[in-house]
Amino acid sequence: MAKFIFITGGVVSSLGKGIASASIGALMESHGYKITILKLDPYINVDPGTMSPFQHGEVYVTDDGAETDLDLGHYERFTNTKTKKLNNTTSGQIYYSVIQKEREGKYLGKTIQVVPHITDEIKSKITDLSKDVDIVICEIGGTVGDIESLPFLESIRQLHLQSDSHDTLFIHLTLVPYIKAAEETKTKPTQHSVAILRQIGILPQILLCRTEKPLSDDIKEKIALFCNIKKEAVIEAIDTDLIYEIPLIFHRQNLDKIILGFLNLKIKPDPDLLKWKNIIHTLRTTKNSVKIGVVGKYIKLQDSYKSIYEALTHGGIANKLKIEFIKIDSEAMEKEGPGKLLKNVDGIIVPGGFGIRGVEGMIETVKYCRENKIPFLGICLGLQCTIIEFARHVCGLKNAHSTEFIPECPQPVVCLLDEQKMMTKLGGTMRLGAYPCKIIKNSFSFKAYREELIYERHRHRWEFNTSYFDEFKKNDMVFAGLSPDEKLVEIVELKNHPFFVATQFHPEFKSKPFAPSPLFSSFIKACWKYRKKL
Ligand code: GLN
Repeated sequence: MAKFIFITGGVVSSLGKGIASASIGALMESHGYKITILKLDPYINVDPGTMSPFQHGEVYVTDDGAETDLDLGHYERFTNTKTKKLNNTTSGQIYYSVIQKEREGKYLGKTIQVVPHITDEIKSKITDLSKDVDIVICEIGGTVGDIESLPFLESIRQLHLQSDSHDTLFIHLTLVPYIKAAEETKTKPTQHSVAILRQIGILPQILLCRTEKPLSDDIKEKIALFCNIKKEAVIEAIDTDLIYEIPLIFHRQNLDKIILGFLNLKIKPDPDLLKWKNIIHTLRTTKNSVKIGVVGKYIKLQDSYKSIYEALTHGGIANKLKIEFIKIDSEAMEKEGPGKLLKNVDGIIVPGGFGIRGVEGMIETVKYCRENKIPFLGICLGLQCTIIEFARHVCGLKNAHSTEFIPECPQPVVCLLDEQKMMTKLGGTMRLGAYPCKIIKNSFSFKAYREELIYERHRHRWEFNTSYFDEFKKNDMVFAGLSPDEKLVEIVELKNHPFFVATQFHPEFKSKPFAPSPLFSSFIKACWKYRKKL
């Protein structure tokens, strides 16, 4: 029988509940337990796939093609969990399936209510994941006190009541702010947020206190007393510049032992945290760095390219280099030009996106990298911009574009396949999830992956228009990766360049600090060589 750890958040959003959950997962694994992590999101959308990146941040894609919350990216990066559709459930999905069952007559004449029908559905989503693991970690999205999260909180309260006392554990992440004018650390928001939980019948046993300053013993004692928590279970979650240090920060305060104690599980005297210590050592001691320009449409929001920034950091770890990010809005690029905005960068990434805004700035960036032989990695829309740029400026197809942007375009080098033309709904209908890609030898990609068949994750509708194959080949574009039936272009490259690779898939989703994406590692290596003029 698996144990359940429920993680709630209080006071404000953006306290890093996803990273805290992932770090707890890493700590449980360091004691030899098999875990899984799921996120329950209170919003009514069925998934974040149709939301703007400015609203929601990155949409993380799993192998099985689910469009999910970006916290699942943290779960995969920190732990051995392979997330799937089931690892992210929204209120929208819960209501959708309850209403479908009602229409099918499955409730036999009953009145359908939040309790028990919605809560039963939520509970089954949580327990469904418990089959092959020792511990299920369940993160509840949103902040306690929100109307939307009430059914989720009610469900975990019920699960606790229906389980043996050592089988469930409630952890609450809260904010302990420091008020500069008063020069004081304040515990009241935490007291109030725990009070809301207690009103709905949840008594948290561990508090993770997000704070910018270390918490004194007095403050911990006060929080413990007012929130009905043991003092040693008041954990300081101090701000850090390195998210990968968080498992170690928690471990130093015995959080792993406290959790396992509550769950009545065996504690390893010497948990296996060496790999974490090693990457932190690398990141703290590395002196050399490379400057990477990221030219995208959603630069303003830190979370929109989360996995890209993380994968770059992993590529840095693999090469013992720090990454300096130069983030540039592709609309600004249209006005000011790459020569001015990308001076002194050692490599450039053009990431994914939707819609025409800022696309010309991306195309101009690709041209700049191609002509000036600056290491370049294009991803998804980045590949499509590469195709358009090459068509216009190398093949002489002056009106080349994607039909996403100009539906009636006379030279549609990027277009929709018939199956996508027939789609009438936007949600969940893109080419999603892991697909195979054959790589040709003698390519940058083969040198990176050292394999002829790879699987990477996709999230797009448009494809390279293969009727232009010959034209592009004639002009020396290298089709380095294709689908096994050779109908879809997965990777394009250029020869006589330090590193020029664009992929239709998203290699960033599978990158981990301990298993960096091969393409990102090779890209960073090329950037370092470029910087050093090697
Ligand atoms: N908008 C493009 C498409 O749908 C690219 C998508 C992306 O970059 N994820 O094909």
